[in-house]
Amino acid sequence: MTGSSEPAPRVIQGNCGICPSGCSVTITLQGDRISRVVPDPRRPNGMCCRRVSRAADILYSPDRLLHPLARNGKRGENSFRRVGWDEALDITASRMQEIKSRFGPEALCLYTGRGTFERSLWEMLAPAGVRETCAWSLLFPFGSPNTTGAGSNCYVSQAVIAPATTFGVWWADTEVDLERSNLIVVWGTNPANASPPDLMERILKAHRRGARVVVIDHRRTETAVRAEATWIPVRPGTDGALALAMINVIIEENLYDQEFVREWTAGFPELAEYVRQFPPRKASEVTGVPEETIRGLAREIAGARGAAFLGYSGLEYTTSAVQNIRAILILWAVTGNIDVPGGVLFAAPADRFSVSSRHRLDPPGGPAPVGASAYPLYHYFRKEAQAMELPAAILENRPYPVRGMLVFGASIITAYPDPNLWRRSFSALDFLLVVDRYPTEDSRYADVILPAATSFEYDSYLISGNTVRLRRKVVEPLGESRSDWDIVAGIAARLGYGHLFPSSTREMLQWAFEGTGIDVGRLEASPDGIPLSSSARVYRKWEKGLLRRDGKPGFPTPSGKMEISSNILASFGFEPIPVFSPPAEGPVGSPQLAPHRNIGRLAGQRPNPLVWINTHDALARGIANGDPVDVVSPRGRVRFEAHVTDDIMEGSVEADAHGGSPIARGLWRTSNVNELTDSGNRDPLSGFPVYKALLCDVAKA
Ligand code: SF4
Repeated sequence: MTGSSEPAPRVIQGNCGICPSGCSVTITLQGDRISRVVPDPRRPNGMCCRRVSRAADILYSPDRLLHPLARNGKRGENSFRRVGWDEALDITASRMQEIKSRFGPEALCLYTGRGTFERSLWEMLAPAGVRETCAWSLLFPFGSPNTTGAGSNCYVSQAVIAPATTFGVWWADTEVDLERSNLIVVWGTNPANASPPDLMERILKAHRRGARVVVIDHRRTETAVRAEATWIPVRPGTDGALALAMINVIIEENLYDQEFVREWTAGFPELAEYVRQFPPRKASEVTGVPEETIRGLAREIAGARGAAFLGYSGLEYTTSAVQNIRAILILWAVTGNIDVPGGVLFAAPADRFSVSSRHRLDPPGGPAPVGASAYPLYHYFRKEAQAMELPAAILENRPYPVRGMLVFGASIITAYPDPNLWRRSFSALDFLLVVDRYPTEDSRYADVILPAATSFEYDSYLISGNTVRLRRKVVEPLGESRSDWDIVAGIAARLGYGHLFPSSTREMLQWAFEGTGIDVGRLEASPDGIPLSSSARVYRKWEKGLLRRDGKPGFPTPSGKMEISSNILASFGFEPIPVFSPPAEGPVGSPQLAPHRNIGRLAGQRPNPLVWINTHDALARGIANGDPVDVVSPRGRVRFEAHVTDDIMEGSVEADAHGGSPIARGLWRTSNVNELTDSGNRDPLSGFPVYKALLCDVAKA
């Protein structure tokens, strides 16, 4: 019952503002505060994740940053004083100018993390000419090419480099036809934990109508359990060997699409020669997958005519990750599962709606970004710095000094290997700006902290399915927080180039839809959004000239063929065919460390961070379920809670990531799995750290 002075609750339709998915929800407002958020399954994008029920708690968390802060004590002491926005922005701009005058503009670097994932930001602030990135162009007019972000350790291997060097197409321009598939292979991803969970719902629906689901992973994931999948445990980091062994089977047994291979691929003979090194018996020893399982799955994929493949970061964190993913994509293509009903589909260029790129900025001339010479392939596709190389620039001036960083929505110390390396790096900077909604381990080292608003607190747009719509502000920004757009505009104005960025969200919307045929006024008057035009589904687009911009048949690759042997990889001096390298740390790569076991990472929110360990491995170490244990690698020792289970492959463990936040509770505050990972162990193609194929052991604490 509400008291007479309390306003009556109001219920409105809106979008969840906790993550960029912007799920459709019904919001209860008590006065000017959100009190309840529930899914609205009647509207598009109405499938919400578990966080929706805690959306109000997240928004009004006592940990929210509400005011600009400036450093008071020594760097790293976590001592700050409250300042006004003007003072905070003045300090930021003057320190940036100071660094520029002493070291050049390239000595400033901008990093944008998962906390900045908001469609308008990543679409409107991407460097000109880059199809998709979360790195922003804010420092380009300042003269610095150094923009980077979460693409340095996530997404780019799987969604950019592997498909682009194979098909000439980015993963964002594909979709998986789960509705028509009768074989769904989930490989190195766990859609049950994804935001939003619509992919999982589609898998379950397919399963209910009789599709078979196979999960290839070293853990029996929640996806595997809920979809009653066949679980094929694979030794971490050996997915490439498994894919190549399946290609070996389909060639030996003549199960591949011979016409497609002959007419539309380049490099098949070299691949056929190479996969002779991967007979299933030998691959079984490497991968831990029984020989008959390898043969059986290869035949099933070849016979499916519409097998769906879902993969992601589980495939990205090993020594030859890009090549492993390419091997899987090639397996799918040569078995006739690409751009056919039930398979992996390409979007025709004409069907891709893009907001206006008219205002996007080119990187400045002058020095290349940090990491461009160490990881030229990454730079070729992204035109941005590879953040794994930033500590070398900060601590050793290689290739040149980086003296200041602007970090938006990220927690680099907990997300990257070797937290102490990053602590040393942040301590050595002349200036660090952190923009976030909550304090992070990084913000402890900041000179200035700016409070950012959540997506509940400012207008933007959403594109879901075939509809574009506005996402309306639900409440005013809390405290003195501002949207990332306002903060970008404020910094740009102080640096003298405010006119190059929108000064309000209304102007941002005008810029976004300029020349696209979508009128912002009409969008504002259409709460259900405006449908985008799309043509009727056409399969095998390479035959019909629907993939290349010049309208010719073939693939948008240098050769016009699907490149099993990649011209782009060859031009950068890499193996053009998908050569497998065993993990640098593992029974093959470093036998001296073999008693240790592989570790990986997993996002999760449980009372304590868990390490999954197989029942037999736990028994051998006297470990019971729930015991405190130490995971030990050559880099360190971190405390976890043992989750003893048969749902993980014997000889491997999986440790929860994302511990180490100053606002977390209990072991989550102290147990940062990246104390165990190794900054020097990377995929040479992408520069990605090897998070998931490392050796460790587990001991009772
Ligand atoms: S997926 Fe993101 S937007 Fe959707 S309910 Fe969860 S937190 Fe909110």
